[in-house]
Parts: sequence; structure tokens; C-alpha cells
Amino acid sequence: MQVSIIGGGISGLATAFLLQQQAQERGRPVALRILEAEPRVGGKIRSLHSEEGYLCEWGPNGFLDGKPATLDLCRQLQIVEQLLRSNDNARRRFIYAKNRLHQVPENAGDFLRSGLLAPVAKLRMAAEIFIPPRRSEEDESLADFCRRRLGREALDRLVAPMVSGIFAGDPESMSLASCFPRIRQLETDYGGLFRAMFLLARRRRAERRAGKAVASASGPAGVLTSFADGLQRLPDRLLQVLGQQVETGTPVLALEPAAGGFTVQLGDGRRLQADAVVSALPAHDFADLVQGFDGPMAALLREIPYASLQVVCLGFERRKIAHDLNGFGFLMAHPNPLPMLGTLWDSSIFPRRAPQGRVLLRSMLGGARRPQVADWDDETIVEETRIALRQTMGITADPEFVRIFRHRRAIPQYPPGHGRRLQELQQRASRYPGLHFTGNAFFGIGLNDCVCAAQATADALLSGCS
Ligand SMILES: Cc1cc2nc3c(=O)[nH]c(=O)nc-3n(C[C@H](O)[C@H](O)[C@H](O)COP(=O)(O)OP(=O)(O)OC[C@H]3O[C@@H](n4cnc5c(N)ncnc54)[C@H](O)[C@@H]3O)c2cc1C
Repeated sequence: MQVSIIGGGISGLATAFLLQQQAQERGRPVALRILEAEPRVGGKIRSLHSEEGYLCEWGPNGFLDGKPATLDLCRQLQIVEQLLRSNDNARRRFIYAKNRLHQVPENAGDFLRSGLLAPVAKLRMAAEIFIPPRRSEEDESLADFCRRRLGREALDRLVAPMVSGIFAGDPESMSLASCFPRIRQLETDYGGLFRAMFLLARRRRAERRAGKAVASASGPAGVLTSFADGLQRLPDRLLQVLGQQVETGTPVLALEPAAGGFTVQLGDGRRLQADAVVSALPAHDFADLVQGFDGPMAALLREIPYASLQVVCLGFERRKIAHDLNGFGFLMAHPNPLPMLGTLWDSSIFPRRAPQGRVLLRSMLGGARRPQVADWDDETIVEETRIALRQTMGITADPEFVRIFRHRRAIPQYPPGHGRRLQELQQRASRYPGLHFTGNAFFGIGLNDCVCAAQATADALLSGCS
């Protein structure tokens, strides 16, 4: 079977590798081709080593080891011993609200003492235990869910910052079921979040005793994990293993259904035949490829919105920053008058991200609520970042190192109705035997989600050729 995988980000590379592994195990080798438009692989994953000695992540700075997908992939790639878990202090996360940074509470005692929420908002949150579960199947927005169960202030000061940290998104236009299926499941299965928390805490205690990686209460499940020389080690290793099968600098322009498969039209004029094709592309790029033979499918793909992000890396002399940097960084509560979504204290999260005596801060600007930031020039972006850092952390020093990474379509957003759209897309794709799609536009945006979806795609390809 000849398979063309289009897109050499983590989704495409992982699909290729997992497919190859499984095909070999089953004694049914496939002929693979991975076609990537850029001169390098990795997509959103890119680690830059500056001449000044800073290590800046262009996109993601790690994956969570609480889910097995990426960890298992690293095991199969034999790079698990090179993994680097984030420093212990990275458990400490902060939210900027009411003119200061508040540590995100890690337990009930911290929560009661914290000034992040007003006493009445804490009571409103505690009342969650009395709120009956919603029975409607209708896709609810994250904001509606939070207002209904936890109250307005919890939405603004706890959930909105978390959501901008993961999706750069706006909770008013995010589907709870598609963005946080687990939370919806907790309400369905246990009747409420606190009920679920009590029961699951009991299970977590047992897991901790068994030595498993367990989420801190203030952060997402698992420990942020990368490599000493940056996350790019992962796509680099995939490239090494996949070797000649990967063609970089090779954009795909169009797909055409052909007898028994597809014709893949490349930017250099070549027309390749494939029994199966996998799109591991952003939704709008996939839309361009199917436009010629299925306009409605292209239209559905173009409806998936994206949020933009500007990543601003600033390096400072440590002695010029008075603020404590012992933690992960902070996110901004809503309403947020600043264009900054938050700042990661990168050199506190992983070692060797900044030269001796220096620190690296990585701020995110823009997101779904401020699309206009994508049009600002570099000077304005740096100036606004510095204003925000002055206001939130009191930093007045001049940075000695500045890098801006722009992602005009950084992160796909899953608005209410995403699940239905996905079903329609799957139905339309099923009309064309051999057409598969994966990637962060559909099944989850985290690296673990991308690797999980890659595994499912590899399985579907192999079952299709049995
Ligand atoms: C700033 C930022 C920070 C993030 N932080 C985290 C984090 O800390 N942890 C986490 O788990 N996730 C994080 N994410 C999300 C995660 O990085 C992405 O969801 C994931 O990397 C997407 O991988 P992908 O392969 O699906 O898509 P992409 O990485 O976008 O890859 C798509 C590939 O397709 C190629 N392509 C496009 N068009 C064509 C064409 N016509 N022909 C051939 N090739 C084409 C592109 O060049 C690209 O290489 C972050 C994302 C961003 C933007």
C-alpha cells in the first residue's frame, strides 16, 4: 500500500512512524511518503538556540506526562532517557487579578485563604455541590457551563485564564464537550465537579502511593516534560527514524480522487499516485487540497476558526529583576485590559534556558479575544509586552535579548457545534476511500491529543487495507 502523509508536524510524523511500526509488526509493510511544505519538520514545534545562549521555544514548550501517548511515542523512539521533567517549583502557577499575582490554590486550605476570589464567590463555588447535572445534549459553551456550576467570578478569575493559557481562546465561544470532554464527563458521571473531585482524590491518593505521576491540584494533569535541548528533539528524532521517506520543501497543492486512491499534485509539478492519503494539516490548508473535488467539505474545514498568538521572548540579567521567579509563570484574569495573555518564566521551568545569571521570560499576546494584535508591528509588540510586565511584575529593566515569534493561525478553536461539524467532515471524507485526516484542528490541540489521533489514524489505515 502506498500512503502519502501530508504535513510534517507532530501529527503527520507520529502517524507515519506509528503506521510503519504497526505495519512491520503485522508483516504488511507500507510504502510511505511524508510531504512537508517547509524546509524543516516539526510544524509548531521549533526550539531556537540563540547566539546569546538562550533556548527559546517557538511554540509548545513541553507535553504533559499524565497521559501516556507522547511518553509512549518517546519510548518507541528510544529517547525516553533524554526526557527532562520540569522543575518542581513549576507547580506554582499564578493568576494576575485585582492588580497583583495570586498563587493558584493547590488545596482547599490555600483556596480558602487565597485572595483570588471574593468570599461570596468562594461560597458560590462551594454551592456547586447542590447544583443538579444538566440533562440536555445540546453543546454548551464553556462560559455557560462555568456560570451555571461555579459562578461568574470563578469563570473570570480561574477558568478564563486557564483557557487562554491552553487555547488562547474565549470561553464564551468554546464548546465544553469538544475542548474539555473530561469535565463534561465528570458532570455526567458523578453529577457534579466537587462530587467527582472527592471521589477521584481518593483514587489519586492511592495512585500516589503506587508512585504514579499525579496532577497538582493547581495545574493540568501530569508534569510538563521536554528535552534538555528543547522539544524539537522529538520531531528531529522522528525525522531521523523515518529518513528518506520524508520530503521537506515539498508543498502539496491539490488532491484528486483517482481509481483506487488519489493523485497528489505537488508544488514542483510532480503528480504522485497513492492508495491512501492522510492530511495532517491545519484545517484551512486541508480545505485548499479538497476544494477541487468537494467544495462543501472545503467550506466545513474553513469554518474552523483559529486564534493568533505572538510569542515574545525577553532575556534579562537576573539581578535586575526584583520579582520572585519561583514558579511556572502567570496568566491574566478576565476582564483583562492588557493585550498579554500571560508570561511563562521559562528559565524557572526547565534548566539551561538562559545563560548564567540571566532569565528568560516568554509572554503570549493576542489570542481569540484580541485578533488585532497580529497586525501590530514588532516595535509595538515589544513595547506592549514591556508595559504589561511593568504592571504585573514591576519589571522596568531593559531586556538584553528579544525575539518575537508570530503565529497568525496559532491554535484552532472548537466552538459549540464542533462535534457536529467533525461528524459531517467524517461523513464527507468517507465518500472517498483512502482519504484520512488528523491533526490539532479536530481531536484536541495538546501534543498528547495529536499523538493519540495519529495512533487512531494509523489503526484506521491498517484496518482499511486488511
Ligand atoms: C505558541 C504555542 C504554544 C503551544 N504550547 C503547547 C504546549 O506547551 N503543550 C502542548 O501540548 N501543546 C502546545 N501547543 C499546541 C501544539 O503545539 C499543536 O497543537 C501541535 O504542535 C500541532 O501539531 P500538528 O502536526 O497537528 O500541526 P502543525 O504543527 O501545524 O503541522 C502542520 C504541518 O503541515 C505543513 N503544511 C501546511 N500546508 C501544507 C501543504 N500544502 N503541503 C505540505 N505541508 C503543509 C506545515 O508546514 C506544518 O509543518 C502550542 C501551540 C502554540 C502555537
